[in-house]
Amino acid sequence: MARGYLATQKYNAENTGMGYTPFTIKKDGEKRQVRILQHELEWVNLHMHSAWKIVKPTRCAAPRTMEDDVEVEDRSQCPLCNAECPRSPKVCIPVRVRGDEDASRVQIIMYGRDHFAMVADAIEHLPEGKSMTDYDFEIKRVGSDTNTKYFWYRTETEQRPLNEAELKLEVPDMEEIVPILEEHVLLRRAKDYLDSEDAAPVGAAGGGGSNGSAKTPF
Ligand SMILES: [Zn+2]
Repeated sequence: MARGYLATQKYNAENTGMGYTPFTIKKDGEKRQVRILQHELEWVNLHMHSAWKIVKPTRCAAPRTMEDDVEVEDRSQCPLCNAECPRSPKVCIPVRVRGDEDASRVQIIMYGRDHFAMVADAIEHLPEGKSMTDYDFEIKRVGSDTNTKYFWYRTETEQRPLNEAELKLEVPDMEEIVPILEEHVLLRRAKDYLDSEDAAPVGAAGGGGSNGSAKTPF
């Protein structure tokens, strides 16, 4: 089952439009031990549009600029924003997975708000002066489908700063790797979303929206 690194990159690029190795835990109850490779203040935060079975995860095309130290974005320039396709922030956390046979492979944990809450909790409970890069973490998956939770445990046995080999690993630049797609693709996906809204019975837009956020994207 294990794919080589390049084959995996190629597979991901073709199937998800994303040239990186996503971190996954497939089964309920499974756990993995990871070493986080980037300080939590440096984790990249991307805005992704998606609608289950209608719009694949698509990076928001709204330009983000800094004005007086505040990030400002122009959402009028993103077709999916204009279509009010749901959007959420995704935090990208680069890790080495213990036991990964490929010693140079960096995997990316990409979490939306719900899953990130567990990580935020882990950050909050770090000992004073410590960072997420000072420990191994064990991540345990509990549940399946939409009821999945990922619990994060700090392991005290692997308490140390990043070693030389870890510092040498190439952390993918997610801003570069997750591309903003060409406009015609964005327009088509926006149309797919609008068409699905038209087709859906009132109150069932997007086939879910249990949190009622479909019309108030983040
Ligand atoms: Zn957008």
